[in-house]
Amino acid sequence: TVTVEDLKALFTRIAEAMTREKDRLCELDGLIGDADHGIAMELGFAAAAKAVSGLDATTADPTLVFNTAAKSFLNAVGASSGPLYATALMRAGASAKGKSSLNDDDMVEIFTAFAKGIQDRGKAEVGEKTMVDAWAPAAIACRAARDRGQPLAACLTAALEAGKAGADATKEMIAAKGRSSRLGDRALGHMDPGAASAVVIIACLHIHFT
Ligand code: ADP
Ligand code: MG
Ligand code: MG
Repeated sequence: TVTVEDLKALFTRIAEAMTREKDRLCELDGLIGDADHGIAMELGFAAAAKAVSGLDATTADPTLVFNTAAKSFLNAVGASSGPLYATALMRAGASAKGKSSLNDDDMVEIFTAFAKGIQDRGKAEVGEKTMVDAWAPAAIACRAARDRGQPLAACLTAALEAGKAGADATKEMIAAKGRSSRLGDRALGHMDPGAASAVVIIACLHIHFT
């Protein structure tokens, strides 16, 4: 089962990954947006990791970890990814409510709630060249693997594959949501930066729980 300690370490892992990926994410955003996506994600997850690392693992529960991360992320990030990930993290917190540790079913529920939070907040559908193009298929694949009786690690392998394919598919899309929607077909050929950073997060989950 997944404990508060595991979640705290997960946020540190994601923050470190975003530092490594910052330049690539900013370059992608520079092609179809305002070149700050890597900075936003690094700042957001650094703030979240710092805040959750200060929680006392003997008294904190998973809901408090996610809610603390949500608040810190929102406060740290001025870009549109701020409220999107803050909502996702709040939904993860609500999904974990009342649980002191998380089993495989709980984790798949949380993944699903997280992805749905992004869609509810941003109102983007698949095919509109956003992070939803990675998160939505990843969540569906994760749930489908669990429904086939797969353990969490295999569910996250399936989620990562689907998320990568979804992010790749954004290269062929014209944006309908967010800053890059002003570009029309000039956005063609470039991967959406939010979909790229979604894959970074899912890859961290995959490594962390396998
Ligand atoms: P900003 O555009 O404010 O600078 P970021 O650079 O942090 O924000 O994030 C840009 C990413 O946010 C886009 O690549 C896209 O994936 C995502 N995004 C923008 N609008 C939406 C939306 N309505 N729903 C889902 N994702 C969105
Ligand atoms: Mg940007
Ligand atoms: Mg910006």
